[in-house]
Amino acid sequence: MERYDLPDANGHFGPYGGVYVAETLMAALDELKNEYERVKADPTFWEEFRHELKHYVGRPSPIYHAKRWSEQLGGAQIFFKREDLNHTGAHKISNAIGQALLARRMGKKRVIAETGAGQHGVATATVAARYGMECFVYMGAEDIKRQSPNVFRMKLLGATVVPVESGSKTLKDALNEAMRDWVTNVDSTFYILGTAAGPHPYPMMVRDFLSVIGEESKEQMPEVAGRQPDVVVACVGGGSNAIGMFYPYINVDGVRMVGVEAGGHGIASGMHAAPLSGGAGVGVLHGAKSYLMQDANGQVVETHSVSAGLDYPGVGPEHSYLKDIGRAEYVAIDDKEALSAFHDCCHLEGIIPALESSHALAWAAKVAPTMAKDKVILVNLSGRGDKDINTVAGLAGITL
Ligand SMILES: *Cc1c(COP(=O)(O)O)cnc(C)c1O
Repeated sequence: MERYDLPDANGHFGPYGGVYVAETLMAALDELKNEYERVKADPTFWEEFRHELKHYVGRPSPIYHAKRWSEQLGGAQIFFKREDLNHTGAHKISNAIGQALLARRMGKKRVIAETGAGQHGVATATVAARYGMECFVYMGAEDIKRQSPNVFRMKLLGATVVPVESGSKTLKDALNEAMRDWVTNVDSTFYILGTAAGPHPYPMMVRDFLSVIGEESKEQMPEVAGRQPDVVVACVGGGSNAIGMFYPYINVDGVRMVGVEAGGHGIASGMHAAPLSGGAGVGVLHGAKSYLMQDANGQVVETHSVSAGLDYPGVGPEHSYLKDIGRAEYVAIDDKEALSAFHDCCHLEGIIPALESSHALAWAAKVAPTMAKDKVILVNLSGRGDKDINTVAGLAGITL
């Protein structure tokens, strides 16, 4: 393959990505793009970023050999990239820090964010406290009801949580409201977007900040496993933890890349959140073109997943492109398979994984037995599952 170097200057990954927004947002996005281009070439920015990742987040996150589980499966060796050990419990904090440092350079004293399950809201509230910024988090009213511990966490951290009553009162509506706030308050405000989606330059910027996951893995794997992995696997909601793992491996021949979407009740049921692997068409959502779950009239459809963090009808433009060119594969794992992997990981490795990450684990556990024992699968364990215990208990008919 030719050396991969995308997006182009206008934020296109092949036919995907770009900037599909109202005229009123163009100036804000241009300012952001120019400022990011400036810091991208400024080594002092990346020094500062790395310093924060080391001393505040606790990076590098380790690579761990899941020996007992691998042995039980009897095939390939499974390794975890332990993003669950980061401060606030997932990969998201590294992206939030990158954007907050950029906000600080731009002199913005107010940050806003959208959140679905609340994880990105917590990461944003955390960095806002860390850097002394005012913070407003937009969250669907329906999600606020379902995710009260995270709402309280954000409040403890000093953020204002703004309920969104429009549409389905979930993540996509919160994203629309956050963009509306940004247009109105662009002089004072930086919009910290939570995944590798949205209009250019967000998908590129979020990818760059989270590429630390794959960069570290590339350094650690020879030491821990004796070589680079045969396969890297990550769950895909909007696609940020997956692209963070994949990007540094794109130009490395022989490393297979697999993104795992939420199969919900099964692809055939139509009740899932798998735009890449579930046969969806292409559309525009939140300012960019990508694969998108929509009905015959082009209306975005409701998604289903046991895991709130994967419950998004769109996906980042770069994943859409990597699918088309065949550099990455995208598959679906349903709720049941994910839950089963969740419990296996608890019992066999002493690690409670996030339900999102459990989708990637389930795929690895399914495929490992078909591979030789000297093969290596690296799973991005995107987060810890403490946040999910109420969901898992509820499914078992237990009230905590
Ligand atoms: C938010 C979240 C995800 C999904 O988001 P991506 O942008 O697709 O990475 C996955 N895992 C965890 C633990 C999360 O919190």
